[in-house]
Amino acid sequence: MNTSLDRNALLIGTQWRRPETDAMIEVISPHSEDVVARVPEGSAADIDSAVIAAREAFDRGPWPRMAPDERIEVVARLSALYAARLEEMATVISTEMGSPISFSNLAQAPAPWMMIEAFTKIAREFPWEETRAGALGGEVMVRREAVGVVAAIPPWNVPQFTVLSKVIPALLAGCTIVVKPAPETPLDSYLLADLLIEAGVPEGVVSIVAGGREVGEHLVRHPGVDKVAFTGSTEAGRKIGAICGEQLKRCSLELGGKSAAIVLDDADLTTVVEGMKFLGVMNSGQACVAQTRVLVSRERHDEVAEALAEGIGSMVVGDPLDPATEIGPMVARRQQERVNSYIEIGRQEGARLLTGGTGRPDGLESGWYVRPTVFAGVDNSMRIAQEEIFGPVLSVIAYDDVDDAVRIANDSDYGLAGTVWTGDRDAGLGVARRVRTGTYGVNTYTMDFAAPFGGFKASGVGREFGPEGLAQYTELKSVYLGEPAPGADS
Ligand code: NAD
Repeated sequence: MNTSLDRNALLIGTQWRRPETDAMIEVISPHSEDVVARVPEGSAADIDSAVIAAREAFDRGPWPRMAPDERIEVVARLSALYAARLEEMATVISTEMGSPISFSNLAQAPAPWMMIEAFTKIAREFPWEETRAGALGGEVMVRREAVGVVAAIPPWNVPQFTVLSKVIPALLAGCTIVVKPAPETPLDSYLLADLLIEAGVPEGVVSIVAGGREVGEHLVRHPGVDKVAFTGSTEAGRKIGAICGEQLKRCSLELGGKSAAIVLDDADLTTVVEGMKFLGVMNSGQACVAQTRVLVSRERHDEVAEALAEGIGSMVVGDPLDPATEIGPMVARRQQERVNSYIEIGRQEGARLLTGGTGRPDGLESGWYVRPTVFAGVDNSMRIAQEEIFGPVLSVIAYDDVDDAVRIANDSDYGLAGTVWTGDRDAGLGVARRVRTGTYGVNTYTMDFAAPFGGFKASGVGREFGPEGLAQYTELKSVYLGEPAPGADS
């Protein structure tokens, strides 16, 4: 059966081309378990064609040689086209990966568009070329030039968000790009491909070739690639970082997390529970910044844990396309199995299951669903507190005092995000300064595209967003100009 989401071509060098092989990806609905679309599965030969096109466009094409304002104009056109397709983008993402449509309408589709807007503003103010007084007298020009051909590798959980966090700054800097979407979520990238063509991105500049790990690794190793921008698991990030290290390729890695929400004794319970219903289990728990460890003083542990169990346990689980749904299915059967296996591990480790557990949520006969789960009495050394589960599973952990809470928050291989909940903003800021993570929130959490986002420790290398994120797609060049010519304006 053909569906309206089927495609038969690949975007190679900003043009539709026939793939080199007949292999197809079947995109399966995590809700119905039916095939919703078939698209070509990219091969190593397709990646080679894409890198050749990107190399040619970078080495000889107009894109890197344009003035930044000319590129900004193209990206601004893309932004306007994107804004008109948000609803369609949200539906496609919910269809392919099972994200609740409420989350897709709130974040999966509009956040990438807000990011395009933020990056175009940053690019307008970016110091592409500046002249400084040299330390030895005379002048030095510092240029920020495009880093070259970029390999962009996103995961499936926030597919457009993680594609555009690489494609947009790369475009603005004058890079050419080969994107390899995850095989679970190729469909949103087809919509993006249509928009890139419509916006007038020149020939050769962007390719999109969906495929699995081997194809991804072929792209990473490709000698025609100058920089790899990766978002995904820490395990894959280590491997990609090692390859880039060996080849001296530029590399940025946005990896996993195990973020802690520290609840201080003066925190308002309703605010905490409402906060965790979003931040703890957003995108059905499949979020790198999810606050999956909730740290509470020993005195308030049971009260907060029970309120959380009540709040999380009553969330609506079901069809991702139903606007009432708060928790959708996991992206794949293997992810459902993985989350359930962690719930079982939590039980065996002696954590107290307050709500959820393994087994199907009531009334859902098909689909890769798991029950929203809260464990209490968790010790931070347990595997459920140390390892990224990537599902709707929260661990409540008791602390003795604020120093102990900070110690527990920092006792993690990861360092991506975190929050503190308190009636005293200054006390919250004091905690924020002591937790070793790349982003933090006081009584809230968000990614602000004006500010850098990324991880300490095993959560990554490099930053996305803000001028710092744009800078990751540039190389610095210093041009020594000597003394200004006599009579020249300074
Ligand atoms: P994954 O690492 O399995 O795959 C991510 C992408 O990399 C996919 O496109 C995959 O095909 C590709 N890939 C995997 N191994 C590769 C290799 N050796 N060489 C080249 N490409 C390879 O991760 P996933 O399961 O798709 O995504 C979930 C993970 O992503 C979680 O750990 C989550 O925390 C992380 N994530 C991090 C952020 C962040 O910004 N820090 C954002 C979203 C997701």
